Order: sequence, then C-alpha cells, then structure tokens
Amino acid sequence: MTFKDLNLNTPLYNALDDLGFTTPTPIQEESFSVVASGKDVVGIAQTGTGKTLAYMLPILRNLKFSKQDNPRVLVLVPTRELVVQVVSEIEKFSKYINNRVLGVYGGTNINTQKQAVAQGQDIIVATPGRLYDLAVSRVLQLKSIQKLVIDEVDVMLDLGFRHQLMNIFDILPQRRQNIMFSATMTKDVDDLITDFFTSPAKISIAVSGTPLENIKQERYDVPNFYTKVNLLEHLLHDKDTFSRVLIFVAYKKMADRLFDKLEELFPGQSCVIHSNKTQNYRLRSIEQFREGENRLLVATDVMARGLDIEGVSHVINFDTPDYPENYMHRIGRTGRAEQQGHTILLSTEKEQESLKRIEELMQMKIETLSIPERVAISTELIEEERPQIRERNNPIKRRDEDAPGPAFHEKSEKNSKENLGGSYKFKIAAKYKKPKTRGDKNYNRRNKK
Ligand code: AMP
Repeated sequence: MTFKDLNLNTPLYNALDDLGFTTPTPIQEESFSVVASGKDVVGIAQTGTGKTLAYMLPILRNLKFSKQDNPRVLVLVPTRELVVQVVSEIEKFSKYINNRVLGVYGGTNINTQKQAVAQGQDIIVATPGRLYDLAVSRVLQLKSIQKLVIDEVDVMLDLGFRHQLMNIFDILPQRRQNIMFSATMTKDVDDLITDFFTSPAKISIAVSGTPLENIKQERYDVPNFYTKVNLLEHLLHDKDTFSRVLIFVAYKKMADRLFDKLEELFPGQSCVIHSNKTQNYRLRSIEQFREGENRLLVATDVMARGLDIEGVSHVINFDTPDYPENYMHRIGRTGRAEQQGHTILLSTEKEQESLKRIEELMQMKIETLSIPERVAISTELIEEERPQIRERNNPIKRRDEDAPGPAFHEKSEKNSKENLGGSYKFKIAAKYKKPKTRGDKNYNRRNKK
C-alpha cells in the first residue's frame, strides 16, 4: 500500500513527496478512513509508529479553507516539547495548504499567545493548563471545535491532568469528534474513554508490551552506580557506533548526577533534560541533541516520552524502570520509523524484579552480555545504594523524586511573569520622578535644569 491508495489531495501528496514519504505506516493505514469518517477513535500505538500523521492526514484532508477566527481543531498534548514538535509536524504537511496553526503552552507570556489567538487560527495545539487559561480569558473561543485530539493520554493522566481535561470537555461543543492516542492502555485511560467517548472505534497496532521488531535489545548485570558509569564510559568511547545516545534514568537527582559524570568523562558532549530544568534549557538541550552538537542526552522518563528525535543510535537504560511500560516507551525512542535501533539495559541486584516484569510483559528474554574485563568493578556506593536506616511510619517524608515537579505544571499567569531585575526603588523613582530618599534629593534639581 502507498499513500496514493489513500484518498488524499494534491497539496498533501506534494508535501509527502517533498518529505520522501511513500508508504503509510500500519497505524496510518488503519486510522485514515476511521478518522476521516468522523467517528470517535481510540488508537493504541507506541511512539515512533507515525501516529501524529495518522490523525493529522485525515484531519488536514477534510479541513476546508475558512476565514473564521475560531479554531476548528484542537490537539492536546501533555508537554510543551510535544506542542513544539506536533506544530512543526503539522506545518510540514501543510506546506501547500492555506491554514493557520498555533501552539500554546504554559510558562511563557500569555499575552503574546492571546494576540496570536486573536488573529484567527484553524488548528490549536496546546497543553491543557494554558489552553484552559486562554479559554477562560474569552480570547480563545472553543465553540467551533469540531475535532478534539488528545495525544499521549496515558502520560497526560499520569501527570495529573485529568481534572484539567474535564474542565476543557465542559466548555467544548457537545457535538465533536474525539480522537485519542495512547501508547499504553491503563485503567485511567479506559475510564476516560467510557465516560466521554461515544462507542469509539478502536485501533491497536502493537499490543503494549510487544517490542518494535527492529530494535536490538541487550542487557548487563552491573553491581552499582559507579560500575554502571565505568561500563558506560567503556561503551561510549566508540563514538562512531554510539553516535546519538539517549540515556534514561529514573529521577532528576540521578539525571544531574550522571550528567556531571559524563561531562567529566566526555566534556562538551552531553546534555540533560528533566522537569526541574527551565523550558528554555530543555528546548536547547533537545535541539543540541537533535542537531548532533551533543551526542549524549540524559533524560527522565516523563520528559522524554513522546519526543521524536531521528536517528537515535542507542537507548541506554541506565536503570531498570519499575514499570515495564516505561521500558517500552524508552526503547521506542530508537528504531523510529522502521530504522534499526539498539537498546542496552543495566540492572543491579535490586533491579532484578523489575527486569523480570519487563521480560514477562514482552514475553521474551533480553540477551545478557558479560561486563568486558577492561571495565573496573567499583565497590564505592552512592547515597541511595548504602543500607539505610528507615524511619517507620513517617507519613510526612515521602520519596517522590519521580513526580513531575512544579515546573512541569502550567504556571499561573502571575507567576509566569519574568523577573527583569531592578528594584522597587527604581520603579517608584521612574513613576514619581522624585527622590525617594534624602540622599537622592539632587535628582529633581538636576532634572529641573
Ligand atoms: P510519530 O510516531 O508520530 O512520533 O512519528 C515518528 C516519526 O516517523 C516522525 O519523524 C515522522 O515524521 C516519521 N514518519 C511518520 N510517518 C511516516 C511514513 N509514512 N514514512 C516515513 N516516515 C514517517
């Protein structure tokens, strides 16, 4: 099957041609007619399977030219990074279509976005919090939305966006098409579908837990953090093979710690993303990695989910994720769009249980390699690996390092104002043009002259 077999139109064919896309991926093939039919759709597909295009092609195909200001298509995604990525994807395919696409997300000036919205848009791509703020401010009118896409629903619900989704559903027109994509099916996702979807068509490509076939998986048993670092150093020395490496860790502190180590070992070759880093920092890191300026990117699960970076040579699981679904997400970052991928999993003794769960989910054993002799086995332990005296029943102390963290949520408008420096005194001086303190009384004299 080629794209010619789908009922597309010339502008879309031309854009596809320009990009050199000839054959639809399985999810694209299956989704096209269902999404085009206007029915509610639930798609279960792993990232990297081409799902953005799976919903965008039929939507762009049927979106008629319009001069009306209110948007007709709303795409909700969990992270700001994804907003940027989805907008750029839509723009690529809209090269020969006269439509208006805007991405909005929190943490940036809402007024600039209000102005952009007010100019009139066809498609809005947004994170839920900022979308809701814009809608409440009445600048963004949602009454003409005909199609609602929610991408990466599982991540969205993981991040606690359910409440915000409910608020948005409340102000959307009742009659609309709901299109939802999720990499995994969880109970939360299922509940959401039952509550808000009308007998949706289900499209499932790879059952969650089925690894993409074009990913070569290997693993090592490694006793501790420092030995993991030694092994990593040994592997990463081969710059040609390990040309673009995404390294996953479970939580932010570990990400920073590993990043510092890599900077010591391979100066200027790595970058890091996690939810405590600012928006700009994260975008810059991703860009540097994407452009090949840095070949190593250290990331936490939530931050890197759904990120589409081409040509990732290796995904290294520096730790073994507790939830086997996270392993599936992680390895899906390599071998994207049918290229050969490679992934390496490192597990300590403590992580064997998690490893078992991953292998059970995939119903296969990952090939185990022995640590090369040249790699030094360290006996030094990091804080988390030392035996700990646990305080029992202390409900106040919660170990919650993996939580998305405050930076991840949309900031309120008040808090998102930038601090431009300068003090209150300067402001008062500028406003009243008179001295605030005696020491400054020459100010008026000077200015009178
Ligand atoms: P996604 O799963 O939507 O994140 O897409 C993964 C990557 O595959 C993106 O970089 C797409 O541009 C690319 N892609 C999607 N569909 C196709 C296709 N039919 N042929 C080649 N590449 C594709």
